[in-house]
Amino acid sequence: MPLVSSKELLLKAHREHFGIGAFNANNMEMVQAIIEAAEEEKAPVILQVSQGTLKYAGLEFAANLVKTGAELASVPVVLHLDHGTDFYQNVRCLRAGFTSLMYDGTEGMLDACKKMSGDNKPSFEVIYKKVQSQEAFEENVRITKMIVDMAHACDVPVEAELGKIPRIDDFWEIIGKKFNYSARLPESVQKMVEKLFADPKNAEEFVQLTGCDSLAVACGSIHGMKAGTQPLNIRLLDEISSRTNIPLVLHGSSGVIKTMKDAEASGIRPGKNEGTIEDALRYGISKINVSTELQITFIDMVRKEMENNPGEKDVRKIFLPAKTALKSRVRCLIRLFGSSGKGHTGFVSKLGKSEIMHPE
Ligand SMILES: [Zn+2]
Repeated sequence: MPLVSSKELLLKAHREHFGIGAFNANNMEMVQAIIEAAEEEKAPVILQVSQGTLKYAGLEFAANLVKTGAELASVPVVLHLDHGTDFYQNVRCLRAGFTSLMYDGTEGMLDACKKMSGDNKPSFEVIYKKVQSQEAFEENVRITKMIVDMAHACDVPVEAELGKIPRIDDFWEIIGKKFNYSARLPESVQKMVEKLFADPKNAEEFVQLTGCDSLAVACGSIHGMKAGTQPLNIRLLDEISSRTNIPLVLHGSSGVIKTMKDAEASGIRPGKNEGTIEDALRYGISKINVSTELQITFIDMVRKEMENNPGEKDVRKIFLPAKTALKSRVRCLIRLFGSSGKGHTGFVSKLGKSEIMHPE
């Protein structure tokens, strides 16, 4: 079926307290694995294109791979721009057929600030003060509103971001690049993460002023973590959710504890007001972004195949097991998010049926 908008899907997920997986795909095999997994789970799915993938594959390849997958699938597929940098990029993606956009005002503002000051690695104090400044809030409102007005004219929804969801690289100077993720991050890092949290009152005002359709909120997750050891601030989520009443988005989910059972198994005790992905679904999170975990699953299998078959010359024989491993991982995540069975449509699947047939 043709690509669909994320608007109605996220509103339904928000009402019914389940999450829609928003998976980052970087090549054809990943796109296929994610769409096939969604189809087997009968789940709606969001495929999102990151800034890195836009540079790697180019806008047309990235968009058309997902469009082709959607056309063949029987479940609803959304093509979403992840962390859009500015107005112009959002316009280009809208023209290219994206059915869901994002503007990340915090990242855009920090990039502009780096360019203006010539300081490529500003200190945490500088970042934190900028992110939480009135000036940053107003600029985020101004540009998000422009993008919302433009996108809504074409019935395309927009995700915005408030607070800053950091990257694990931001803390390498403190934890070291070889951090093994077997325990929670040091308290000093946790305090820095908390300083970047979204403010509930600002969130309410932001949503009213911009009319954005969903909101990514900094509430404890960190991009790029290799294991799920980070809890979310559930109380903060609850407050933002009741003030904004729109679907909230979790970024950096690979680093978040998935369930209390997982927390117990790894010996991590979430504190008071803290919780897991499972908890977050009850407090307004309706879209869950997954990237790092997918890349690790894919690349671990490629590595294993290369080690087991050092003489292999056929790239397809290396990639096929990686695609299969990824598909099974995505199915597990879809079940965790509760979206299995939520993507029934009247369309007939054509996935895997498009091989060239010899005419009779
Ligand atoms: Zn993100």
